[in-house]
Amino acid sequence: GSILKVETETKDLVQMDKDHLWHAMHRYNEKASPMIAAEGKGSWFTDTKGDQYLDGVSGLWCLNLGHGRQEIAQAAYEQMMNLSYFPLTLSHKPAIELSSKISELLKGSYTTFFSNSGSEANETAFKIARQYHSQNGNPGKYKFISRYRAYHGNTFAALSATAQANRRVKYDPAVPGFLHVPPPYSYRSPFGENVENSDLLAAEYIDQVINFEGSETVAGVILEPFISGGGVLIPSKEYLTRVAEICKKHDVLLIVDEVVSGFGRTGKMFGFMHSEGVQPDIVTMAKGLTSGYLPLGATAVNSKIYENFKENGKLNHFRHVSTYGGHPASCAVALKNIEIIENEEIVKRVSELSESTLSELYELTALNKVGEVRGIGFLYGIELVEDKKSKTPVSDEFMGSVIGACKEKGLIIGRNGDTVPGYGNVLIIAPPLSSTVEDLHFVIETVKAVLHELC
Ligand code: PLP
Repeated sequence: GSILKVETETKDLVQMDKDHLWHAMHRYNEKASPMIAAEGKGSWFTDTKGDQYLDGVSGLWCLNLGHGRQEIAQAAYEQMMNLSYFPLTLSHKPAIELSSKISELLKGSYTTFFSNSGSEANETAFKIARQYHSQNGNPGKYKFISRYRAYHGNTFAALSATAQANRRVKYDPAVPGFLHVPPPYSYRSPFGENVENSDLLAAEYIDQVINFEGSETVAGVILEPFISGGGVLIPSKEYLTRVAEICKKHDVLLIVDEVVSGFGRTGKMFGFMHSEGVQPDIVTMAKGLTSGYLPLGATAVNSKIYENFKENGKLNHFRHVSTYGGHPASCAVALKNIEIIENEEIVKRVSELSESTLSELYELTALNKVGEVRGIGFLYGIELVEDKKSKTPVSDEFMGSVIGACKEKGLIIGRNGDTVPGYGNVLIIAPPLSSTVEDLHFVIETVKAVLHELC
Protein backbone atom coordinates (compact mmCIF):
# COMPACT_ATOMS: atom_id res chain seq x y z
CA GLY A 1 0.00 0.00 0.00
CA SER A 2 2.60 2.51 1.02
CA ILE A 3 4.81 1.73 -2.00
CA LEU A 4 1.81 2.39 -4.24
CA LYS A 5 1.18 5.67 -2.43
CA VAL A 6 4.79 6.80 -2.93
CA GLU A 7 4.60 5.83 -6.61
CA THR A 8 1.40 7.79 -7.13
CA GLU A 9 2.77 10.79 -5.29
CA THR A 10 5.96 10.70 -7.33
CA LYS A 11 3.96 10.44 -10.56
CA ASP A 12 1.90 13.48 -9.58
CA LEU A 13 5.02 15.42 -8.67
CA VAL A 14 6.66 14.52 -11.96
CA GLN A 15 3.65 15.78 -13.91
CA MET A 16 3.44 19.03 -11.92
CA ASP A 17 7.17 19.48 -12.35
CA LYS A 18 6.89 19.06 -16.12
CA ASP A 19 3.97 21.46 -16.29
CA HIS A 20 5.14 24.25 -14.01
CA LEU A 21 8.75 24.11 -12.83
CA TRP A 22 11.38 25.70 -15.04
CA HIS A 23 14.71 23.98 -14.36
CA ALA A 24 18.13 25.61 -14.52
CA MET A 25 20.24 24.82 -17.59
CA HIS A 26 17.60 22.32 -18.65
CA ARG A 27 16.94 20.89 -22.09
CA TYR A 28 13.30 19.93 -22.06
CA ASN A 29 12.79 16.22 -22.49
CA GLU A 30 9.25 14.91 -22.52
CA LYS A 31 10.34 11.36 -21.72
CA ALA A 32 12.84 11.94 -18.92
CA SER A 33 11.76 12.20 -15.29
CA PRO A 34 13.46 14.76 -13.07
CA MET A 35 15.32 13.49 -10.05
CA ILE A 36 13.28 14.75 -7.12
CA ALA A 37 15.20 14.84 -3.87
CA ALA A 38 13.31 13.97 -0.73
CA GLU A 39 15.86 14.13 2.07
CA GLY A 40 19.57 14.35 2.79
CA LYS A 41 22.11 13.34 5.41
CA GLY A 42 25.79 14.23 5.26
CA SER A 43 27.06 13.78 1.70
CA TRP A 44 24.07 11.64 0.70
CA PHE A 45 20.51 12.28 -0.42
CA THR A 46 17.52 10.09 -1.16
CA ASP A 47 15.09 10.73 -3.99
CA THR A 48 11.32 10.26 -3.91
CA LYS A 49 11.75 6.74 -5.28
CA GLY A 50 13.89 5.84 -2.28
CA ASP A 51 17.18 5.60 -4.21
CA GLN A 52 20.29 6.90 -2.44
CA TYR A 53 23.02 8.97 -4.02
CA LEU A 54 26.28 10.51 -2.90
CA ASP A 55 26.28 14.14 -4.01
CA GLY A 56 29.70 14.36 -5.63
CA VAL A 57 29.24 18.01 -6.61
CA SER A 58 27.92 19.32 -3.28
CA GLY A 59 24.68 20.51 -4.86
CA LEU A 60 26.07 23.33 -6.96
CA TRP A 61 29.49 23.24 -5.21
CA CYS A 62 28.00 24.83 -2.15
CA LEU A 63 26.87 22.14 0.30
CA ASN A 64 30.30 22.11 1.87
CA LEU A 65 29.30 20.73 5.28
CA GLY A 66 26.72 18.29 3.90
CA HIS A 67 23.06 17.91 4.81
CA GLY A 68 21.51 17.95 8.23
CA ARG A 69 23.78 20.00 10.48
CA GLN A 70 21.52 20.64 13.38
CA GLU A 71 23.60 23.53 14.78
CA ILE A 72 23.21 25.46 11.54
CA ALA A 73 19.44 24.95 11.43
CA GLN A 74 19.28 25.98 15.08
CA ALA A 75 21.22 29.18 14.40
CA ALA A 76 18.74 30.10 11.64
CA TYR A 77 15.76 29.26 13.84
CA GLU A 78 16.98 31.28 16.79
CA GLN A 79 17.83 34.27 14.63
CA MET A 80 14.44 34.18 12.91
CA MET A 81 12.63 34.07 16.23
CA ASN A 82 14.77 36.82 17.71
CA LEU A 83 14.95 39.31 14.82
CA SER A 84 13.30 37.99 11.69
CA TYR A 85 14.40 40.67 9.28
CA PHE A 86 16.29 43.92 9.38
CA PRO A 87 17.80 45.99 6.56
CA LEU A 88 21.45 46.87 6.27
CA THR A 89 20.67 50.50 5.57
CA LEU A 90 20.76 50.25 9.38
CA SER A 91 22.59 47.44 11.15
CA HIS A 92 22.30 44.18 13.04
CA LYS A 93 24.60 42.04 15.14
CA PRO A 94 24.99 38.94 12.92
CA ALA A 95 26.05 41.10 9.94
CA ILE A 96 28.49 43.10 12.07
CA GLU A 97 30.04 39.94 13.48
CA LEU A 98 30.20 38.26 10.09
CA SER A 99 31.83 41.24 8.37
CA SER A 100 34.45 41.31 11.10
CA LYS A 101 35.02 37.55 10.81
CA ILE A 102 35.43 37.79 7.04
CA SER A 103 38.06 40.50 7.47
CA GLU A 104 39.94 38.27 9.93
CA LEU A 105 39.78 35.26 7.61
CA LEU A 106 41.07 37.32 4.67
CA LYS A 107 44.11 38.31 6.77
CA GLY A 108 43.79 41.98 5.98
CA SER A 109 41.43 44.83 6.69
CA TYR A 110 38.21 44.47 4.72
CA THR A 111 34.76 46.02 4.75
CA THR A 112 31.96 43.83 3.42
CA PHE A 113 28.81 44.58 1.44
CA PHE A 114 26.28 41.74 1.65
CA SER A 115 23.97 40.47 -1.08
CA ASN A 116 22.21 37.19 -1.82
CA SER A 117 24.27 35.28 -4.35
CA GLY A 118 27.56 35.00 -6.17
CA SER A 119 26.25 36.86 -9.20
CA GLU A 120 25.18 39.78 -7.07
CA ALA A 121 28.46 39.73 -5.16
CA ASN A 122 30.29 40.17 -8.48
CA GLU A 123 27.79 42.73 -9.76
CA THR A 124 28.40 44.71 -6.56
CA ALA A 125 32.16 44.43 -7.04
CA PHE A 126 31.94 45.92 -10.54
CA LYS A 127 29.92 48.89 -9.34
CA ILE A 128 32.28 49.51 -6.42
CA ALA A 129 35.31 49.32 -8.73
CA ARG A 130 33.90 51.79 -11.26
CA GLN A 131 32.79 54.19 -8.55
CA TYR A 132 36.14 53.92 -6.78
CA HIS A 133 38.07 54.94 -9.87
CA SER A 134 35.54 57.59 -10.77
CA GLN A 135 35.91 59.39 -7.47
CA ASN A 136 39.62 58.68 -7.22
CA GLY A 137 40.36 60.98 -10.15
CA ASN A 138 40.20 58.29 -12.87
CA PRO A 139 36.65 58.43 -14.29
CA GLY A 140 37.86 56.82 -17.54
CA LYS A 141 38.67 53.53 -15.83
CA TYR A 142 35.63 51.39 -16.54
CA LYS A 143 36.74 48.21 -18.34
CA PHE A 144 36.96 44.78 -16.77
CA ILE A 145 39.12 41.90 -17.88
CA SER A 146 38.19 38.26 -17.28
CA ARG A 147 39.36 34.97 -18.77
CA TYR A 148 37.78 32.84 -21.46
CA ARG A 149 36.05 29.80 -19.90
CA ALA A 150 35.28 31.81 -16.75
CA TYR A 151 31.85 31.78 -15.14
CA HIS A 152 31.00 34.73 -12.90
CA GLY A 153 27.21 34.62 -12.73
CA ASN A 154 23.89 35.02 -14.48
CA THR A 155 23.08 38.74 -14.15
CA PHE A 156 24.01 41.01 -17.04
CA ALA A 157 27.37 42.34 -15.85
CA ALA A 158 28.37 39.03 -14.25
CA LEU A 159 27.34 37.30 -17.48
CA SER A 160 29.39 39.82 -19.45
CA ALA A 161 32.42 38.80 -17.40
CA THR A 162 31.46 35.17 -18.06
CA ALA A 163 33.31 34.12 -21.19
CA GLN A 164 31.58 30.92 -22.24
CA ALA A 165 30.02 31.27 -25.66
CA ASN A 166 27.05 29.01 -25.09
CA ARG A 167 25.91 30.85 -22.00
CA ARG A 168 25.91 34.15 -23.87
CA VAL A 169 24.28 33.28 -27.20
CA LYS A 170 20.80 34.81 -27.46
CA TYR A 171 21.44 37.11 -24.48
CA ASP A 172 24.06 39.37 -26.06
CA PRO A 173 24.83 42.21 -26.45
CA ALA A 174 26.77 42.19 -23.24
CA VAL A 175 27.30 45.17 -20.93
CA PRO A 176 29.93 47.38 -22.60
CA GLY A 177 33.46 47.32 -21.25
CA PHE A 178 34.05 43.63 -20.57
CA LEU A 179 37.14 42.13 -22.22
CA HIS A 180 38.39 38.56 -22.22
CA VAL A 181 41.85 37.03 -22.21
CA PRO A 182 43.09 33.44 -22.52
CA PRO A 183 42.99 31.36 -19.34
CA PRO A 184 46.00 29.60 -17.84
CA TYR A 185 45.37 26.21 -19.40
CA SER A 186 48.56 24.35 -20.14
CA TYR A 187 46.79 21.24 -21.47
CA ARG A 188 45.37 23.26 -24.36
CA SER A 189 47.70 26.19 -24.29
CA PRO A 190 46.46 29.17 -26.28
CA PHE A 191 50.14 29.92 -26.92
CA GLY A 192 50.90 26.78 -28.89
CA GLU A 193 51.77 23.19 -28.09
CA ASN A 194 54.69 22.28 -25.86
CA VAL A 195 55.05 25.81 -24.56
CA GLU A 196 56.59 25.39 -21.15
CA ASN A 197 55.52 28.49 -19.29
CA SER A 198 52.02 28.75 -20.70
CA ASP A 199 50.51 29.98 -17.42
CA LEU A 200 52.94 32.84 -17.12
CA LEU A 201 52.36 33.80 -20.74
CA ALA A 202 48.65 33.97 -19.88
CA ALA A 203 49.51 36.37 -17.05
CA GLU A 204 51.69 38.53 -19.30
CA TYR A 205 48.88 38.62 -21.84
CA ILE A 206 46.82 40.58 -19.28
CA ASP A 207 49.64 43.10 -19.03
CA GLN A 208 49.63 43.47 -22.82
CA VAL A 209 45.87 43.91 -23.02
CA ILE A 210 45.98 46.63 -20.36
CA ASN A 211 48.74 48.37 -22.32
CA PHE A 212 46.86 48.10 -25.61
CA GLU A 213 43.59 49.29 -24.11
CA GLY A 214 45.31 52.02 -22.13
CA SER A 215 45.57 51.47 -18.40
CA GLU A 216 43.61 54.70 -17.89
CA THR A 217 40.55 52.79 -19.22
CA VAL A 218 40.82 49.59 -17.17
CA ALA A 219 39.03 49.31 -13.82
CA GLY A 220 39.63 45.74 -12.77
CA VAL A 221 40.60 42.16 -13.45
CA ILE A 222 38.19 39.52 -12.15
CA LEU A 223 39.25 35.94 -11.81
CA GLU A 224 38.72 32.76 -9.87
CA PRO A 225 41.95 31.44 -8.31
CA PHE A 226 41.08 28.16 -10.05
CA ILE A 227 38.53 28.22 -12.87
CA SER A 228 35.97 25.74 -11.58
CA GLY A 229 32.81 25.50 -13.69
CA GLY A 230 34.86 26.26 -16.80
CA GLY A 231 36.66 22.93 -16.47
CA VAL A 232 38.79 22.92 -13.30
CA LEU A 233 41.91 24.73 -14.49
CA ILE A 234 44.74 24.71 -11.97
CA PRO A 235 47.48 27.18 -12.89
CA SER A 236 50.90 27.27 -11.30
CA LYS A 237 51.00 29.24 -8.05
CA GLU A 238 53.04 31.97 -9.75
CA TYR A 239 50.23 32.86 -12.14
CA LEU A 240 48.10 34.71 -9.61
CA THR A 241 51.12 36.32 -7.97
CA ARG A 242 52.10 37.74 -11.36
CA VAL A 243 48.55 38.89 -12.19
CA ALA A 244 48.42 40.70 -8.84
CA GLU A 245 51.69 42.49 -9.67
CA ILE A 246 50.38 43.50 -13.08
CA CYS A 247 47.16 44.87 -11.56
CA LYS A 248 49.10 46.88 -9.01
CA LYS A 249 51.42 48.33 -11.64
CA HIS A 250 48.44 49.62 -13.66
CA ASP A 251 46.23 50.74 -10.74
CA VAL A 252 43.74 48.07 -11.82
CA LEU A 253 41.72 46.45 -9.04
CA LEU A 254 42.22 42.73 -8.49
CA ILE A 255 38.81 41.17 -7.90
CA VAL A 256 39.09 37.57 -6.77
CA ASP A 257 35.93 35.49 -7.20
CA GLU A 258 36.03 33.04 -4.30
CA VAL A 259 32.42 31.94 -4.78
CA VAL A 260 33.49 28.32 -5.34
CA SER A 261 37.03 28.32 -3.94
CA GLY A 262 36.29 30.14 -0.68
CA PHE A 263 35.94 28.52 2.73
CA GLY A 264 38.18 25.52 2.29
CA ARG A 265 37.25 24.00 -1.08
CA THR A 266 40.87 24.10 -2.29
CA GLY A 267 42.56 23.16 0.98
CA LYS A 268 43.18 26.77 2.08
CA MET A 269 40.57 29.08 3.57
CA PHE A 270 40.62 31.07 0.30
CA GLY A 271 41.98 30.00 -3.06
CA PHE A 272 44.15 33.09 -3.50
CA MET A 273 46.10 32.05 -0.40
CA HIS A 274 47.93 29.41 -2.42
CA SER A 275 49.86 32.17 -4.17
CA GLU A 276 52.43 34.37 -2.47
CA GLY A 277 52.07 38.10 -2.15
CA VAL A 278 48.41 38.31 -3.18
CA GLN A 279 46.14 40.60 -1.15
CA PRO A 280 43.08 41.21 -3.36
CA ASP A 281 41.38 44.59 -3.58
CA ILE A 282 37.99 42.90 -3.64
CA VAL A 283 36.98 39.34 -2.75
CA THR A 284 33.56 37.98 -3.69
CA MET A 285 31.94 35.05 -1.90
CA ALA A 286 28.71 33.06 -1.74
CA LYS A 287 28.11 29.27 -1.82
CA GLY A 288 30.53 27.96 0.87
CA LEU A 289 29.93 31.06 2.99
CA THR A 290 26.76 29.40 4.31
CA SER A 291 27.43 25.89 2.98
CA GLY A 292 24.26 26.49 0.97
CA TYR A 293 21.95 26.39 4.01
CA LEU A 294 20.64 29.88 3.20
CA PRO A 295 21.43 32.31 0.37
CA LEU A 296 24.11 34.92 1.02
CA GLY A 297 26.60 36.81 -1.12
CA ALA A 298 29.46 38.96 0.12
CA THR A 299 31.74 41.53 -1.49
CA ALA A 300 34.70 42.20 0.78
CA VAL A 301 36.52 45.41 -0.07
CA ASN A 302 40.03 46.24 1.06
CA SER A 303 40.06 49.22 3.45
CA LYS A 304 42.29 51.13 1.04
CA ILE A 305 39.43 51.13 -1.44
CA TYR A 306 36.72 51.64 1.16
CA GLU A 307 38.43 54.81 2.43
CA ASN A 308 37.44 56.44 -0.82
CA PHE A 309 33.74 55.96 -0.04
CA LYS A 310 33.88 57.77 3.29
CA GLU A 311 33.98 61.32 1.97
CA ASN A 312 30.51 62.78 2.32
CA GLY A 313 28.59 65.32 0.32
CA LYS A 314 29.51 64.44 -3.28
CA LEU A 315 27.44 61.32 -3.85
CA ASN A 316 30.59 59.50 -2.82
CA HIS A 317 28.74 56.90 -0.79
CA PHE A 318 27.80 53.61 -2.41
CA ARG A 319 24.24 54.10 -3.61
CA HIS A 320 23.32 50.45 -3.79
CA VAL A 321 20.89 48.44 -1.70
CA SER A 322 19.64 44.88 -1.50
CA THR A 323 16.49 44.18 0.50
CA TYR A 324 17.57 40.72 1.55
CA GLY A 325 21.34 41.12 1.29
CA GLY A 326 22.86 40.25 4.65
CA HIS A 327 19.61 38.80 5.97
CA PRO A 328 20.05 38.23 9.72
CA ALA A 329 19.29 34.50 9.44
CA SER A 330 21.76 34.07 6.55
CA CYS A 331 24.47 35.87 8.51
CA ALA A 332 23.76 33.77 11.61
CA VAL A 333 24.02 30.65 9.46
CA ALA A 334 27.30 31.85 7.93
CA LEU A 335 28.76 32.52 11.38
CA LYS A 336 27.82 29.04 12.57
CA ASN A 337 29.12 27.51 9.34
CA ILE A 338 32.49 29.25 9.80
CA GLU A 339 32.60 28.23 13.46
CA ILE A 340 32.18 24.58 12.44
CA ILE A 341 34.80 24.90 9.68
CA GLU A 342 37.24 26.24 12.28
CA ASN A 343 36.36 23.89 15.15
CA GLU A 344 36.45 20.78 13.00
CA GLU A 345 39.58 21.95 11.16
CA ILE A 346 37.81 21.33 7.87
CA VAL A 347 40.37 23.21 5.79
CA LYS A 348 43.29 21.18 7.13
CA ARG A 349 41.29 18.01 6.63
CA VAL A 350 40.59 18.87 2.98
CA SER A 351 44.24 19.64 2.39
CA GLU A 352 45.36 16.36 3.94
CA LEU A 353 42.76 14.07 2.39
CA SER A 354 43.10 15.60 -1.06
CA GLU A 355 46.59 14.21 -1.57
CA SER A 356 45.57 10.56 -1.60
CA THR A 357 42.37 11.28 -3.53
CA LEU A 358 44.31 13.13 -6.20
CA SER A 359 46.98 10.48 -6.53
CA GLU A 360 44.28 7.82 -7.01
CA LEU A 361 42.57 9.93 -9.64
CA TYR A 362 45.88 10.66 -11.41
CA GLU A 363 46.17 6.90 -12.08
CA LEU A 364 43.25 7.28 -14.47
CA THR A 365 45.48 9.12 -16.95
CA ALA A 366 46.65 5.67 -18.03
CA LEU A 367 43.30 5.22 -19.81
CA ASN A 368 43.04 6.09 -23.52
CA LYS A 369 40.27 8.60 -23.19
CA VAL A 370 41.54 10.39 -20.10
CA GLY A 371 43.45 13.40 -21.37
CA GLU A 372 44.28 15.07 -18.09
CA VAL A 373 43.33 14.83 -14.42
CA ARG A 374 43.48 18.12 -12.51
CA GLY A 375 42.63 19.02 -8.98
CA ILE A 376 43.29 20.83 -5.75
CA GLY A 377 41.66 20.30 -2.36
CA PHE A 378 38.25 18.74 -2.99
CA LEU A 379 37.91 20.07 -6.53
CA TYR A 380 38.70 17.66 -9.34
CA GLY A 381 38.41 17.74 -13.12
CA ILE A 382 38.90 14.83 -15.51
CA GLU A 383 39.23 15.92 -19.12
CA LEU A 384 38.04 13.26 -21.55
CA VAL A 385 39.33 13.06 -25.12
CA GLU A 386 38.85 10.72 -28.09
CA ASP A 387 42.55 9.92 -27.91
CA LYS A 388 45.53 11.44 -26.21
CA LYS A 389 47.27 12.52 -29.40
CA SER A 390 44.48 14.46 -31.09
CA LYS A 391 42.96 15.67 -27.79
CA THR A 392 39.63 15.81 -29.60
CA PRO A 393 36.97 16.33 -26.94
CA VAL A 394 34.62 13.39 -26.41
CA SER A 395 31.03 13.95 -27.51
CA ASP A 396 28.20 15.24 -25.38
CA GLU A 397 26.63 11.78 -25.61
CA PHE A 398 29.78 10.17 -24.23
CA MET A 399 29.91 12.63 -21.33
CA GLY A 400 26.26 11.82 -20.69
CA SER A 401 26.98 8.10 -20.65
CA VAL A 402 29.78 8.49 -18.08
CA ILE A 403 27.67 10.69 -15.82
CA GLY A 404 24.70 8.32 -16.28
CA ALA A 405 26.81 5.27 -15.39
CA CYS A 406 28.00 6.97 -12.20
CA LYS A 407 24.42 7.82 -11.34
CA GLU A 408 23.40 4.18 -11.87
CA LYS A 409 25.98 3.30 -9.23
CA GLY A 410 24.71 5.97 -6.82
CA LEU A 411 27.14 8.82 -7.49
CA ILE A 412 26.26 12.26 -8.83
CA ILE A 413 29.07 14.01 -10.68
CA GLY A 414 29.02 17.05 -12.94
CA ARG A 415 30.70 18.41 -16.05
CA ASN A 416 31.80 21.78 -17.28
CA GLY A 417 29.42 23.92 -19.25
CA ASP A 418 30.00 23.75 -22.98
CA THR A 419 32.59 26.51 -22.65
CA VAL A 420 33.48 26.53 -26.34
CA PRO A 421 30.96 24.76 -28.56
CA GLY A 422 31.98 21.10 -28.45
CA TYR A 423 34.30 21.49 -25.48
CA GLY A 424 32.09 20.44 -22.58
CA ASN A 425 34.35 17.49 -21.92
CA VAL A 426 35.54 17.85 -18.33
CA LEU A 427 33.99 15.69 -15.61
CA ILE A 428 33.76 17.62 -12.38
CA ILE A 429 33.90 16.14 -8.90
CA ALA A 430 33.61 18.32 -5.80
CA PRO A 431 32.25 16.35 -2.84
CA PRO A 432 31.22 18.02 0.43
CA LEU A 433 34.24 19.02 2.50
CA SER A 434 32.82 17.04 5.40
CA SER A 435 32.70 13.79 3.39
CA THR A 436 33.90 10.83 5.42
CA VAL A 437 36.87 8.77 4.32
CA GLU A 438 34.37 6.07 3.28
CA ASP A 439 32.45 8.63 1.21
CA LEU A 440 35.62 9.66 -0.60
CA HIS A 441 36.51 6.04 -1.16
CA PHE A 442 33.09 5.47 -2.71
CA VAL A 443 33.55 8.47 -5.02
CA ILE A 444 36.97 7.30 -6.20
CA GLU A 445 36.02 3.65 -6.65
CA THR A 446 32.84 4.51 -8.55
CA VAL A 447 34.57 6.93 -10.91
CA LYS A 448 37.38 4.46 -11.44
CA ALA A 449 35.03 1.58 -12.19
CA VAL A 450 33.02 3.63 -14.69
CA LEU A 451 36.02 5.11 -16.48
CA HIS A 452 37.79 1.74 -16.66
CA GLU A 453 34.70 0.35 -18.32
CA LEU A 454 34.02 3.23 -20.74
CA CYS A 455 37.41 4.81 -21.44
N1 PLP B 1 31.13 32.89 -9.51
C1 PLP B 1 31.47 31.60 -9.67
C2 PLP B 1 32.91 31.23 -9.77
C3 PLP B 1 30.48 30.60 -9.72
O1 PLP B 1 30.79 29.33 -9.91
C4 PLP B 1 29.13 31.00 -9.59
C5 PLP B 1 28.04 29.99 -9.62
O2 PLP B 1 28.20 28.87 -9.99
C6 PLP B 1 28.83 32.36 -9.45
C7 PLP B 1 29.86 33.28 -9.39
C8 PLP B 1 27.43 32.83 -9.35
O3 PLP B 1 26.88 32.48 -8.14
P1 PLP B 1 25.27 32.43 -7.95
O4 PLP B 1 24.80 31.25 -8.72
O5 PLP B 1 25.13 32.29 -6.45
O6 PLP B 1 24.73 33.72 -8.45
